[in-house]
Amino acid sequence: MISRSAFLLLALAIASAATGLEAQAAAPPMDEMMRPGVSAELARHRAATLRDVRYRLELNVAQSDSAAPGMVTATFTRAPGAGDLVIDFRGPTLSSVTANGQSVSDHVWENGHLRIPARYLRRGENTISAGFTARIAASGASIIRFKDNTDGATYLYTLLVPADANQLFPCFDQPDLKARFTLTVTAPRSWRVLANGPVLRTHVQARTQAVRWSFGETQPISTYLAAFAAGPWKSWSSEQGGRPIGLYARASRAAEVEADSLIAVNRRAVDWLERYFGVPYPFGKFEMLLAPAFPFGGMEHVGAIFYNENQFIFREAPTLGQQIGRKSTIYHEVAHQWFGDLVTMRWFDDLWLKEGFSTYMAARMQDELDPASEAWKTFYLRNKPLAYGTDQTSGTTPVWQDLPNLDLAKSNYGPIVYNKAPSIIKQLNFLVGDSAFQAGLTRFLTRHAYGNATWRDLLDALEETSGTSLDAFGEQYILRAGMPVVQPRMEIVDGRIAGLTLHQRPARELAGDPGGWWPGRVLVRLAYHDREDMVIPVTFTGEVTRIAQAEGLPAPDYVWSNEGDYGYGLFLLDSASAAFVAQNIGREEDGLRRAMLWGALWDEVREGRMDPAAFARTAMRELPGERDEQIAGLNMGRAWTALSTYLPESRAAPLMGGWERLLL
Ligand SMILES: [Zn+2]
Repeated sequence: MISRSAFLLLALAIASAATGLEAQAAAPPMDEMMRPGVSAELARHRAATLRDVRYRLELNVAQSDSAAPGMVTATFTRAPGAGDLVIDFRGPTLSSVTANGQSVSDHVWENGHLRIPARYLRRGENTISAGFTARIAASGASIIRFKDNTDGATYLYTLLVPADANQLFPCFDQPDLKARFTLTVTAPRSWRVLANGPVLRTHVQARTQAVRWSFGETQPISTYLAAFAAGPWKSWSSEQGGRPIGLYARASRAAEVEADSLIAVNRRAVDWLERYFGVPYPFGKFEMLLAPAFPFGGMEHVGAIFYNENQFIFREAPTLGQQIGRKSTIYHEVAHQWFGDLVTMRWFDDLWLKEGFSTYMAARMQDELDPASEAWKTFYLRNKPLAYGTDQTSGTTPVWQDLPNLDLAKSNYGPIVYNKAPSIIKQLNFLVGDSAFQAGLTRFLTRHAYGNATWRDLLDALEETSGTSLDAFGEQYILRAGMPVVQPRMEIVDGRIAGLTLHQRPARELAGDPGGWWPGRVLVRLAYHDREDMVIPVTFTGEVTRIAQAEGLPAPDYVWSNEGDYGYGLFLLDSASAAFVAQNIGREEDGLRRAMLWGALWDEVREGRMDPAAFARTAMRELPGERDEQIAGLNMGRAWTALSTYLPESRAAPLMGGWERLLL
């Protein structure tokens, strides 16, 4: 027998298990949730009380070139006792709000939020609908309008990242309330429309002759990843290998689009990532758009990647650098379909995770698919100087950045997220080893598929596959701002190494720094001219790490303690090595090593251990023979900084003649 109260408790437990949502003890104060933007409190409250969100979204872009009227029907399951419902909407007009079929005449719409009183809502499934308009403008609107001056055509596309989906339509605009979207767009008759889902059908409206494009329901996706584009696009498609890939570009530039090769590069990226992750491409259809006047290099909208037209159509034959750059953008955006789109950060404090991973995976892919590209050299040159430059300033931040409100998310984009993040992921891969890394990613992507995860979830998966605790890695590289300086000290007795140690310290004392030492694994190269170089794997053991394996070996020409660029930090040279490297750097054949040794010499200057005049003379001596465009460009800049900023005029003057001859 079961008592009545126990039975009631059981019934309640079953009811909440059925929705998977717990009754909410206390919602945050309403004025906090109604603040402009999406506060972390609002996001947490909604994530805890809502699920199974679906948007049926209708937009009409055929009526006006400055506004798109629309209609949204949102359905979702809601926990009991969750209070009034807050929906985000920053568009110009809102009308006909209904909840579960009832008109909501007393809704409040302020600060970009629509508040629906709790009495209209019920436990379990709810339906809210509203009419609205979204703004269309050349910039600053959720629907961007591009006028093609060559043929007068108009093109529209959306760009909602990170927090502008609620400018397009009323929604729960936070990455961890993923929703299935069913989109309908009515557009002028001669236009084509693409979106996240596949086209189900098109229907010509008898009266207006406009065409209604109906798209199939998507998988659960975050609001910032929703997108559509409409206009008289020219399109290409290829079905090769059973995977259809579509490409869209504006008509006036169609002749210049290298459609076959762009489709082929995207296809190779999808194939490679499927193999590497062990997870099939998650979103059914795959299309891409070359978006005119696009503010970024690319954006990883689910199933509809937008690329910057300017960086993808070349007016003249592209240089090798441009070709490599275009490929790495493609690899980055395609990698996001798994890292970012299939598994999404819970909140934009973890923005670094998807950006770091996509850049890192792009380099791995490029290294394998285009061996001649020297992918790791480019990775070093594009990321490390920028990351190190920022991370040794007093204004640096951790890669994980606390974010109290989504409207601050735009300020998180910068070198720490784009350049430090991929650098520490390279270290993480090296620390746990290739097979544990790959298996950990498969586990992470499978476990959190179509859901959300944090950096800690990723470390958990990697800890499981590597059997190594990554707590210290998380504390030092993810939560702590700044970076280590790593300095080798070598003692030579009778021409042999008596002791070799690596010493680390913070590059800068930062206010509130928790301290501690950075864990890590690096390769240390002992270079010789008269015998084979030695490369020794070294795992840091503390502020001082002894390299016992080096003891007794002949004195090397130089020691380089970040061979292969696996470590993250300023890796300095001991003084004998610095002198040797400055003399002989031009003879270093390996592009990555030469780039890094130049970086190390420059770090010696910045640390006050090398005379800027000596650096400038070395750079000026080597520049005419430097065959790598990227290294040459960087060293021109460094030499000029040494001459114009670091040296007093009296010391720079004697070098200026040589500098000017170099520029001729
Ligand atoms: Zn990205």
